[in-house]
Amino acid sequence: MAAIDMKNIVKKYGDGFPAVNDVSIDVQDGEFMILVGPSGCGKSTLLRMIVGLEDITTGDMMIGDKRVNDLAPRDRNLAMVFQNYALYPHLTVYENIAFPLRLAGAPESEIDQKVREASKTLELDEHLERKPGNLSGGQRQRVAMGRAIVRDADAFLFDEPLSNLDAKLRGQMRTEISRLQKRLGITTVYVTHDQTEAMTLGDRVAVMKRGVLQQLASPRELYENP
Ligand code: ADP
Ligand code: ADP
Repeated sequence: MAAIDMKNIVKKYGDGFPAVNDVSIDVQDGEFMILVGPSGCGKSTLLRMIVGLEDITTGDMMIGDKRVNDLAPRDRNLAMVFQNYALYPHLTVYENIAFPLRLAGAPESEIDQKVREASKTLELDEHLERKPGNLSGGQRQRVAMGRAIVRDADAFLFDEPLSNLDAKLRGQMRTEISRLQKRLGITTVYVTHDQTEAMTLGDRVAVMKRGVLQQLASPRELYENP
């Protein structure tokens, strides 16, 4: 059973040409799936339908064995990692990671245990008292992922997380995201328009064009059969 199974997904805005046109993608448990294609091809729309921020016109969106078409975002147990990392500047790293647990009313002992565990995994345990403004881009990204980890999310979803960075930092972050994803073994869907990013990060790459899925293959297969 796929972790996230998109079946014949269609999205129409108004009565124009579908933004997403009969797309089926089976994201396997622990897989790093890339959605790639030029601006306007429908990749953000598809990601937003996975998270629940956009209604699905037709098709089935399955998370595990559950059809989630009509579930609110908060009931899907997915973690969107935003481009700007969405960290609270006035809170420490510890409090930023703890935030979703506090919202959920978790007991202090559980919060402490989960935050310490996550920060160890993410190698942030020496920075817990710092504030986001004093962290590197890579560290900020890890805090954002930490916040997702403590929620025990079923998957990470990234929408062009590196597109605002310069080339050097982008390369570093790419390596970092890839390493962390493998270590955590968490199912990941990652949207980018950047071919290099797609080919270096993904276990598989879904290539989209004008709302249609053109190819779904590993980077190796895509190199050999472009
Ligand atoms: P991408 O993420 O690949 O750049 P999008 O998913 O943002 O593509 O957009 C796919 C298509 O849907 C585009 O033609 C875009 O103009 C259209 N679109 C996206 N969002 C909306 C919206 N809220 N209302 C109407 N059209 C939209
Ligand atoms: P600031 O003055 O720090 O830029 P805003 O005025 O933009 O903050 O904040 C608008 C809303 O967004 C606030 O209700 C705040 O709770 C929320 N917010 C601000 N910063 C963040 C963040 N880094 N992550 C998530 N939500 C935030």
